[in-house]
Amino acid sequence: MPSVYFQTFGCQMNVADSDALQRALAARGYAPVPAPEDADLIVVNTCSVREHAELRARARIAEFAAVKTRRPEMRIWVIGCMAERFGEKLKETIPGIDAVIGAPELVDAEAVVQRYIDKEKHAAAVNPVHPARGVSEFVPVMRGCDNYCAYCVVPFVRGRETSIPADDVVRAVSERVKDGVCEVTLLGQNVNSYNDNGNDFSDLLRRVAAIEGLLRIRFTTSHPKDLSEKLVHTIAGIPAVCRHIHLPVQSGSDRILSLMNRRYTVAHYRTLIEMIRKLLPDADITTDLLVGFPSEGEEDFASTLELVEQVRFTAAFMFAYSVRQGTAAAKLDDDVPRGTKTGRLNRLITLQTSITRSIYESMVGRTLAMMAYGPVEKRGAKFLKGQDRGCKRILIPCIDMKAGTILQVRAVRSSGMTIIAERI
Ligand code: SF4
Repeated sequence: MPSVYFQTFGCQMNVADSDALQRALAARGYAPVPAPEDADLIVVNTCSVREHAELRARARIAEFAAVKTRRPEMRIWVIGCMAERFGEKLKETIPGIDAVIGAPELVDAEAVVQRYIDKEKHAAAVNPVHPARGVSEFVPVMRGCDNYCAYCVVPFVRGRETSIPADDVVRAVSERVKDGVCEVTLLGQNVNSYNDNGNDFSDLLRRVAAIEGLLRIRFTTSHPKDLSEKLVHTIAGIPAVCRHIHLPVQSGSDRILSLMNRRYTVAHYRTLIEMIRKLLPDADITTDLLVGFPSEGEEDFASTLELVEQVRFTAAFMFAYSVRQGTAAAKLDDDVPRGTKTGRLNRLITLQTSITRSIYESMVGRTLAMMAYGPVEKRGAKFLKGQDRGCKRILIPCIDMKAGTILQVRAVRSSGMTIIAERI
């Protein structure tokens, strides 16, 4: 039986693409193995969003290539964003790669397998394997992005924005639910611009929510320029839709937002936060923040800190700007010194961490609906891990409970970014 090992870097869309490819390979008899040394095929799904991510992927591919020198029959596929960005050139810089498959090609995993496996006739006798499904899975509803934020390579590596027809999304989710999935996260770079023949993301949410057996629906990402009151009303009206909105703001300075080509102002962003807090008072709002964008001064950064303090995000992904060749920002002078970027990032992380901690602490004593994801061991003790209806992670002392069950729990304490709870 042929075997495959996946290494996935980057965002949830990459995780979804790897899952789809893994399923298509499983239908050809490829069984997942936990150690790359034992695999006949190694698939590295790459991320280009930051230079650091690319360096990590290159190092990992080189490690796999070293294993291949001892096992020359092993094959290495490099897929995803770096594959699209560098193409066949990757084979020159890292010898040992057999196939380079760009992100847009991954939209059809079945076609990828037909092209790279069936054609090579490596899977002569097909014994399909059935990889275990978790209870929570990602389902893409859109591909690509048309927004061209000045710092971002996604539109270049993932192509134009397209919406996956609602019928296909409903079919994909229904199939997963039949396999035991209880929660899905609908993925798109900007779900607020979803459009299937005039049906928007609110319409899609209503259709997905009607699927019997599906207990929870999450989605990401919302773009502040497009998030509508209609969508927030729709979320409020559907109990299965989780109370979590990820709304990347990036900066608290209008001047920097304009240079970033984000196409909203800080005032507009604040209006959205007010609207969400009014219609969904218990919602977790999370964000992305980028510091050290070209020309960012202390005043711009102070505005970001002020916004973060006022909004009180439950959590944030925080990064220092790094140049991505080919983007509009690459033409600007990367003039914020590295030390200044690091210093600002550390100040921002310190502030956000204290806010996250205090939000988690404020949950103590409250009753939460936790979806159980499965057992986990922490410092020798066994727990059941899960998540509330927002985005907060919860641990309860381990009990024998099927993953996917929703339990009522009471928060007894918080440990940083996890709530420790007990079952009611
Ligand atoms: S919305 Fe902007 S940051 Fe997000 S993927 Fe598109 S271009 Fe990149």
